[in-house]
Amino acid sequence: MKAEKAERMAVQLMKRHGLTDKGWAFRFNFRIGSVGRATNDNGKKFIELSLPIVEVNREEIINDVLLHEIGHAKRGIWHKHDSKWRSITKSLGGSGMEFWDVSSSCAAKSIVMPKGIGQWVCDNCSWSSEIYRRPKPRVRYSCRNCHSIMRRHYYPKPHTTYK
Ligand SMILES: [Zn+2]
Ligand SMILES: [Zn+2]
Repeated sequence: MKAEKAERMAVQLMKRHGLTDKGWAFRFNFRIGSVGRATNDNGKKFIELSLPIVEVNREEIINDVLLHEIGHAKRGIWHKHDSKWRSITKSLGGSGMEFWDVSSSCAAKSIVMPKGIGQWVCDNCSWSSEIYRRPKPRVRYSCRNCHSIMRRHYYPKPHTTYK
């Protein structure tokens, strides 16, 4: 779905379920390890969606992901996927499923993963991470593993559009 629409949906749901009044804000991230996150970043609380994943997935899934994350926000993020979290999430109209955790076995059936256009490669420790959008030429990333500056490597045939 379109990013703008996902953001509108997120903000609406967060208002409806009382998060906005409690200081929660919405933002996108560029991670691909999970579709959504409820996170506390130096005392600021955020519901996040992965922009590259949002762009290739259907609205029903993103809606359910948001309810999942709002459930975490209401329950307290440290409780993870406990039974109280699940009942809160269901009371909001969510499925209470964890299928968008991309690492879980049923993720493949539900979530479409974006294709990268290349990789950041660390020549020091050989860590690599997928590139999903062409970063600005001067952007530099340091390795998550050893903190060396990573080299960018684009695939020969870049995937420039997402379905
Ligand atoms: Zn979760
Ligand atoms: Zn490294």
